[in-house]
Amino acid sequence: MNTDMPDALAQRPLHRDGPMPIPWANEHEEPNGTTRADFTAVNNDRLIEAAQSGLCGACGQELDHWIAFIGDSRSVHLRTFGFPPMHEACARYALTVCPHISRKQHRRPQPASVFRHDAQAPQFWSEPGPEMWILGLTNDFKLLNIHGYLVFFAAQFKVEHIFDYDKRGHLRQLS
Ligand SMILES: [Zn+2]
Repeated sequence: MNTDMPDALAQRPLHRDGPMPIPWANEHEEPNGTTRADFTAVNNDRLIEAAQSGLCGACGQELDHWIAFIGDSRSVHLRTFGFPPMHEACARYALTVCPHISRKQHRRPQPASVFRHDAQAPQFWSEPGPEMWILGLTNDFKLLNIHGYLVFFAAQFKVEHIFDYDKRGHLRQLS
């Protein structure tokens, strides 16, 4: 699967380990004023800002009318997501380049995320190595606080695009 980088994402700083833009929601501010990228943990302040100002979690710019969430089947069934909503183009690009998604993962070790250290944390978006991913498009969402954890709850999806892996373990769009 090959998708061109959206212009908005091309303005993001690139990660040092590869030509991959650092998602806005994964950038953390350090006390000394610099920023640090952590792909396994979202920045709670930016999560709240994304919800309040309607910003895309990937590029940090204002969302369009239709907004995209990516998740495994469980997450999409519950319409709950740990990562903020995105532009559809940004979400499609994330499916293409995110190393946890674009290639099939065999159960990976638990990432060092603040979310996952706590056994009480809601686990519905963190199932390791899903067999398929779904990109849902909707026009509204809410940010919920579930036992101290912030979770995006999407409105009914207008359409769900399904992705799975081919024999070589590469992601492909099914519908
Ligand atoms: Zn975007």
